[in-house]
Amino acid sequence: MAAATIAALTFNECLTLDEEVVLRASQQDPAYQLLVAKVLAGDWHPHRAQEIECLRHFYSVRDRLSVSRGLVTYTYDQGHVRLVIPDGLRRQVAANLHASHQGLDSMLRRARQTVYWPGLEGDLQHHRASCDTCNAHAPSQPPETLILTPPPEYPFQQTVVDVFQLDGCSYLAYADRLTGWLEVAQLPSGATSSKIMNQLRLYFARWGAPEQVSTDDGTNLVSEEMTGFFKRWGITVRLSSAHYPQSNGRAEAAVKSAKRMLRGNIGTNRSLNSDKVSLALLQYLNTPLRDIDKSPAQLAMGRQLRDGVPAISLNYRIDEHWGRTLRERERQMARQHSKMKDHANGCSRSNIAPGSRVLVQNQANKTWDRAGIVVEARGNRQYLVKLDGSGRLSLHTRLHLKPLAQPNPAPPPKPQEPPPEPSSNRPRRRAARPGWLDDYVE
Ligand SMILES: [Zn+2]
Ligand SMILES: [Zn+2]
Repeated sequence: MAAATIAALTFNECLTLDEEVVLRASQQDPAYQLLVAKVLAGDWHPHRAQEIECLRHFYSVRDRLSVSRGLVTYTYDQGHVRLVIPDGLRRQVAANLHASHQGLDSMLRRARQTVYWPGLEGDLQHHRASCDTCNAHAPSQPPETLILTPPPEYPFQQTVVDVFQLDGCSYLAYADRLTGWLEVAQLPSGATSSKIMNQLRLYFARWGAPEQVSTDDGTNLVSEEMTGFFKRWGITVRLSSAHYPQSNGRAEAAVKSAKRMLRGNIGTNRSLNSDKVSLALLQYLNTPLRDIDKSPAQLAMGRQLRDGVPAISLNYRIDEHWGRTLRERERQMARQHSKMKDHANGCSRSNIAPGSRVLVQNQANKTWDRAGIVVEARGNRQYLVKLDGSGRLSLHTRLHLKPLAQPNPAPPPKPQEPPPEPSSNRPRRRAARPGWLDDYVE
């Protein structure tokens, strides 16, 4: 495209918004120019009411404003340098902050690294609240959960693969546990082993082969072909606990984000090959994670990626503290892990030997309405149980099983009535579970 054609685009037509676009928009905005002049001169009146209307909104934050290359920036207490966005661009920036249909908290985390205007929070809240896709499908952010496998020590050492269906089409999501980095691909006409392997090879070539891949997908990824593939690449496959897909924590949350992002952005042809999908993915990758003020892009690549949210261009360069940030992230995940382990040691349920009779909790109605015999312990707190009556084999996590004390078959208790605990002479103390363990697999 010729330079003249590019220059002819109005700023509302630009997919990426950067300093240059913000500058062009600000030059058409007399109020913004008044603000630039005021900040440069520093001659604020002693009283807010004495300022002209359009400057009053900035009065309370006037000490945080400065001017750089014609644009007003907002910096609070050594924090991020944020671009003050002119009025005409705010709607578009708000829309781009919501490109991947993230919740308000995520939008705000990203905004606080990049942009500022008076009433920003309210505008973002309004934008989120009026999004039909979000209101119809995903009202809230997926819960943050804690990590159970040993914590990762470097990016893309431990990844998560998930194959999922959306509106009749198959997609593959690939996420890194340490950084939260996310890749998505469409698998046209179904998820076959060879298509999954083709896609994974691309990711291995880009990010290195992981040491461990987790999945809660018991069908697509455990075929003989896939098993051989992982073996050749030196990758251990870890099946997440049945009923507990969230036990992978961050990366699993990333996979959930993928579904939400696609739901709002794929067109009728179900293809990922569109500007909209790419911008949504960039928006996800640029959004700081909840418990560390860094995004997957900042953790995996050491910088912010140029996308639909304006940022000072310095953010696109590699952060000199990148290595330190990454180690901080590793330590944080290690701390979470040891906290989990301490708790698990304190109150974990005992292992069940094969041959033991157990009650099985029905996950549909939470009643202990079935009984059976443990046939095999599968590791990772998983047990293969042969159910009474039907003789059907099914896999259950330890949390959903209660050992029965009596050696002979006992009739299962009536539904809605939890069975008595196996009796013990020792008085048992019941400890309340802290809320942050709600998603923890025992
Ligand atoms: Zn939305
Ligand atoms: Zn179960």
